[in-house]
This record gives sequence, structure tokens and C-alpha cells, in this order.
Amino acid sequence: MSPDAKKIGVFGGTFDPPHVGHLALAEAALAQLGLDEVVFLPNNRNPLKQSHAPAAGRHRLEMVRLMIAGEPKFAVSDIDVTRRGPSYALDTMQDFTEVRPAEYWWLMGSDALRTFHEWRQPMRLLRLCRLGVALRPPTTVEQLEARVHPDILAKTDFISMPPNTVSSTEIRDRLSKGQTTLGTVARVVLEYVERHKLYRRTNA
Ligand code: ATP
Repeated sequence: MSPDAKKIGVFGGTFDPPHVGHLALAEAALAQLGLDEVVFLPNNRNPLKQSHAPAAGRHRLEMVRLMIAGEPKFAVSDIDVTRRGPSYALDTMQDFTEVRPAEYWWLMGSDALRTFHEWRQPMRLLRLCRLGVALRPPTTVEQLEARVHPDILAKTDFISMPPNTVSSTEIRDRLSKGQTTLGTVARVVLEYVERHKLYRRTNA
């Protein structure tokens, strides 16, 4: 890769809904990995996470779009939502590296790193990108170093950020009970949620 190659972080997730924890991770990755851009990538279906039926892909895409509007270094990709079926990072990264050669990091919280070995062909994926991993309480670097395979750790850059326990699960739960989201969701996103009647108890 040439020294002038762009550095891009690809931030996959369900974003159901997107929240300040996602923004904080993307901002910390930009600064600490010296990225030129972070591309948010709402998945169509996470093959490892079948706990709930998420809001439609078009809603999650639009909520991310609204959350990052006006941030020149943030973008959103519809590649996974439009591909349909389960979303595999390997497929996506193959498309990205083919269409737009650059130096890539796959961004994630530490909870996702713990199950990274279950992803489709993880070592093949790590030939296309490094991992940018932000600590998410209660996980610590020591725990990860003890549990994650050294070959994966060798391709991992840790990102530090103020511990932030916000999660989409908690936000959906609060919204379904008509409770406030206490500054964890951008106003424009909340307006979208309201307008499209997402996360009401009857939709849960
Ligand atoms: P859910 O509660 O529905 O499981 P989530 O809040 O974990 O959702 P996802 O869209 O599944 O959000 O997460 C996308 C990525 O963002 C994952 O890699 C996850 O680890 C990371 N992430 C989410 N919230 C935080 C947070 N508060 N701090 C650091 N990383 C986070």
C-alpha cells in the first residue's frame, strides 16, 4: 500500500438505533488511528446476533445518516443492507478493497472482539484490514489479551475512549416504555423514531 493511501475505518453494526456510544467510538478511532474517514455500515442481518428483529434496514440507514449529517469525515454505506441475507465482514471488505483501495480498519467495541473468531474466515478478513477495537465496559484489555488468539491481537489496535455503557438495547427498552433516552440519542434520530413509530411496545 502506498504511503499516500487513505486510511479508512469501516464501522459495522446494527445501529438499532444509532447512539452517542457509536459516535464516540468513531471519533476516537478517527483521532487515534489517524483515519481520513469512518464509514458507518448498518448490517442487514448479524449472523451471530439473533436476539431481536431489528428495525428495517432503510430505517437504520436513515437514522445513521441523520446522526452523522454535517460531519465531513463520517459517511454511511448501504452495501450490506442492499446485499440482503446475513452480513459478513469478509464480503463487505472484499467489495471495499476492490472498489476503493485504501488502508482499512474494521472498527468494533470489545464485546464484538470476544466473538471475532466465530466470524466467517477471520484470518482471511485480517489480510484485508486491521481491527480497531474500543474498550466497552466491563471488558478490560487484560481480559482480551488473555482470551483472544495472539494472531488476532497482532492485527488489533486498541482505541481508548471514556467508558460508556450506553447500548441500543437499553435505548429500545426505554423508548418502548415511553421513558426519556437521557441524551444518548441525537434529537434528529429521536424525531425520526417518533415519526416512524419505531420501538413502541407493539413493534417490539
Ligand atoms: P445492542 O444493544 O442492540 O446489542 P449495540 O448498542 O451494541 O446494540 P451495535 O449496533 O450492535 O450497538 O454495535 C455496533 C458496534 O458498536 C459494536 O462493535 C459494539 O461493540 C460497538 N458499541 C456499541 N455501543 C458501544 C459503546 N457504548 N461503547 C463502545 N462501543 C460500542
